[in-house]
Amino acid sequence: MRQVGRAEAQLRGEGGAFDAILGLGTNLGDRVHNIEEAIRLLTADGSVRVVSRSKLYRSAPWGVTDQEWFVNACVAVQTELSPHDLLLHCQAVENEMGRVRTLKWGPRVIDVDILTFRDLEISEPDLKVPHPLIGERAFVLVPLKDIAPELRLGGRTIDQMLEKLDSREVQPL
Ligand code: ADP
Ligand code: MG
Repeated sequence: MRQVGRAEAQLRGEGGAFDAILGLGTNLGDRVHNIEEAIRLLTADGSVRVVSRSKLYRSAPWGVTDQEWFVNACVAVQTELSPHDLLLHCQAVENEMGRVRTLKWGPRVIDVDILTFRDLEISEPDLKVPHPLIGERAFVLVPLKDIAPELRLGGRTIDQMLEKLDSREVQPL
């Protein structure tokens, strides 16, 4: 992992400085409730604090297309957790909400992904940051733009990444 000083590495978004951006998605049950419940659980012990959050979006399923529409959102957070501890924290929330892992990219009550963590680049078997599929997923880029419009990944702006995608199927709720 490439380590940089915390002060210089913290990024700024619409709501101020943040450490990480989390991407949330759900397509089972009461999807709006699931997003709210995930944010409640993520922040319950104080280890993660929400700085800003995107609007909620309705999006067509990606990868496995024969399933319900998703509700997606992004949140910018402050945290003292390490990237791996943040991953464990996100997975604990997924498990607490009853996520059952069946099909890859299949239906899920909640998915919590780490999209960015400060300006770190991490490439480990269980944790890749920035999340490698951000640039291919309009349902991530559209909410991401709400909270971090200036973000660049691999030298590309969010708009440049969105140009190549069909964002018509990502609609504000
Ligand atoms: P997906 O999010 O691709 O639908 P899962 O949520 O089941 O699939 O995650 C599969 C694996 O992805 C997890 O076991 C986790 O270790 C790994 N992973 C790698 N990078 C990340 C990341 N940035 N955020 C969340 N999970 C990640
Ligand atoms: Mg995931």
